[in-house]
Amino acid sequence: MMRILFLFFAVLFIQCESTQDKLKQPKEPPFGIVIHGGAGTILKANMTPELEKEYRQVLAEAVAVGHGILKAGGTSQEAVEKTIHVMEDSPLFNAGKGAVLTAEGHASLDASFMDGKTLNAGAISGVQHIKNPITTAIAVMEQSPHVMLSGKGADAFAASLGLDTVPNNYFITERRKNALKRVQEREASEVSFYDPFIRDSKFGTVGCVALDKAGNLAAGTSTGGMTNKKWDRIGDAPIIGAGTYANNNSCGVSATGWGEFFIRSVVAHDIAALVEYKGVDIKTAAKTVLQKVADLGGDGGVIVLDRKGNVAMEFNTQGMYRAHMDAQGNLTIKIYGDE
Ligand code: ASP
Repeated sequence: MMRILFLFFAVLFIQCESTQDKLKQPKEPPFGIVIHGGAGTILKANMTPELEKEYRQVLAEAVAVGHGILKAGGTSQEAVEKTIHVMEDSPLFNAGKGAVLTAEGHASLDASFMDGKTLNAGAISGVQHIKNPITTAIAVMEQSPHVMLSGKGADAFAASLGLDTVPNNYFITERRKNALKRVQEREASEVSFYDPFIRDSKFGTVGCVALDKAGNLAAGTSTGGMTNKKWDRIGDAPIIGAGTYANNNSCGVSATGWGEFFIRSVVAHDIAALVEYKGVDIKTAAKTVLQKVADLGGDGGVIVLDRKGNVAMEFNTQGMYRAHMDAQGNLTIKIYGDE
């Protein structure tokens, strides 16, 4: 009996010791990264297994690049920039190479970036020669006294800094040429911008929100906008507060969807404001603001990350390309609404 009692207390003692050891170990700060590759009518029925595999591979690669930077102690700014490069360089997404085409048949790109620590921000719209628009958005923030540059001026700014510039046909893919043709034919016959086919063939923006070990949030968004856009139309992606927002006091947000409605609902800032002023959790805040968008007649999605590393990936379309990796390296990659 004594022996059993002795053994029992010995085991208890060892367990207490190991729990104490664990408590003594410095806790890894809650860094993390979340990305989207656009929201829309993304249905398994319309996807081949090969294409789905490609999407999942690029999402995994992009999130791993940012996670590696954060794990090594890099900044959320660098993680957002380098992660978005992977998606801008992939022809799969509507950003950089593979961007959707304007009514005139060329690519015209928008991007923005915001730093949650300083509330510094940079954005560009309607550029035609900048290989990685997110890098120029960051350069506007760091190397100009402005927040937003547009068109030829923004292209010239990037060239003056020696950033990578390319001829416009670098961005153009067969897939986007076909999509432009289809949308133009449809628009000519139905003359409705609200036609579901036309609407859904337009999305595919990319975005990223990261939290680094120092507790700083950053968010970025990059897009080609909407297929068959005219009159130098600008969407929500380059507009700070609509498509992108980051504030260490609340959260970082990047949006995708029908830009006109996201501008009118000031989506990214509205989510951050609910979190900051009302103490609402990020998931509820994202759902609340997306409902506002839906009530106006728009649709799309958002990714949100807060300072504790909590993540939300919400959308009111049928799917959204999305991925998240936490400090422990747990990876989530999802495409469809019912995953
Ligand atoms: N929000 C983008 C725009 O309206 C489109 C997208 O998300 O794909 O320009």
